[in-house]
Amino acid sequence: MRLTLLILLLACLLPAAAEPRQSLVPGGLAVIRLSQDDPRDFNFRGKPVLITEVDGAPSALVGLPLSLKPGEHFIEARNGGQVYKKFFRIADKQYTTQHITIANDRMVNPYASDMERILAEKARKQKARNHYSKAAVDIDFLTPVEGARSGSFGRRRVFNGQPRRPHSGMDIAAASGTPIRSPSAGKVIELGDFFFSGNLVYIEHGQGLISMFAHLSEIDVSLGEQIEKGQIVGKVGATGRVTGPHLHWSLGLNGTWIDPALFLDE
Ligand SMILES: [Zn+2]
Repeated sequence: MRLTLLILLLACLLPAAAEPRQSLVPGGLAVIRLSQDDPRDFNFRGKPVLITEVDGAPSALVGLPLSLKPGEHFIEARNGGQVYKKFFRIADKQYTTQHITIANDRMVNPYASDMERILAEKARKQKARNHYSKAAVDIDFLTPVEGARSGSFGRRRVFNGQPRRPHSGMDIAAASGTPIRSPSAGKVIELGDFFFSGNLVYIEHGQGLISMFAHLSEIDVSLGEQIEKGQIVGKVGATGRVTGPHLHWSLGLNGTWIDPALFLDE
């Protein structure tokens, strides 16, 4: 009896493993319990879904696009002639609008001569965002950089008076040169100096769970490198379309960007 009490006490003192939080809104995350009889290869809108243990139970983690319509949706699996469906309901979420002034107007209105580069980079980014491997995945994430988090994921953005795509990640305020830790193990699937994102790195953590870090002053990993959890991947900077030094972190799941805050402690 005393031993049980001691174990309970120790369990309370240890830092709780950060389990991803469900958020059934556009830009959020669905966590769907699977039974022992369910198949383990579900898809959402044709993309394979991450399957792992959450709170000790097999679960499907589904990234919900910002463009997803509120209402009923489902993941689906086919096994032999049988079709399995799991339904979930998405509520509406109104994201606010953010007005940003960028000193270098070329970052808002690129020259015609910039377009070839921008389109080539867009294709590389799209490919990286949709990367999927069967690798094992550790969903207990570390914070990549300590600092004030913007909470601005999903905000509609107007740069120098012109509407642009919504903010696809989290901004963390930190000084230039602050080391950036990989939140989990993974593999470097893309990197380089990009027009809007500046120096960027994509890491696939397994099963289509992807971190993208942007605006780095320095990249400290190479393409194809296997990354350990907590490994330094680069340094905070102010490259690309920014108003000052910060880390931009996007988190992708089944090909869509979701709010990275859902994978961190509150
Ligand atoms: Zn950002």
